[in-house]
Amino acid sequence: MNQTDPAFYHPAPRTQQFCSQCGHRLSRETPPDDNRIRDLCTHCGAVHYQNPRNVVGIVPVLQDQILLCRRAIEPRYGKWTLPAGFMELGETTEQGAIRENHEESGARVQVRSLFTVVDVPSVNQVHFFYLADVLGPHLAPGPETLEAGFFKLDEIPWNDLAFRTVSTTIEHYLEDRPQGVFPTHHYAIDLRFPD
Ligand SMILES: [Zn+2]
Repeated sequence: MNQTDPAFYHPAPRTQQFCSQCGHRLSRETPPDDNRIRDLCTHCGAVHYQNPRNVVGIVPVLQDQILLCRRAIEPRYGKWTLPAGFMELGETTEQGAIRENHEESGARVQVRSLFTVVDVPSVNQVHFFYLADVLGPHLAPGPETLEAGFFKLDEIPWNDLAFRTVSTTIEHYLEDRPQGVFPTHHYAIDLRFPD
């Protein structure tokens, strides 16, 4: 391993002290035939791998408005976001995005297409946002949302958005909207550095 290897500057964060197979204390080392530091049990040989997590969400559009939710949870409490959250086991990215929208805004939506795929390697995440039509103005925000509301395209609260994956996704939507063509945008964000 050298300094250009992602594992050098993005070592997996330590999430457990003890082996979930045998209960012995874990050590931080590179297992045989591997090239990265892992949480390794030297007693039973179990390797506790960590892998990136997926965040799935919706860009909910109603005519000339985008639906946003104000976060009732940390991080970024009180900031506005597109409805999104961590993917659950046993669901597709699209199903997860629809579920998160239902939980956070309560709006009924019809998904159109995958709109952004954003790699965020500095926090070990990949974010997927689906473009969707909102089927009516009725909202029913859940406990993770302070309030949900529709914003005209020239009234987006840019300074109060929660995440760069959200603001860049909305920027792409505004860029594509005049043409009415919404290709999938795939890009990476490095949260260690400002734009
Ligand atoms: Zn063990």
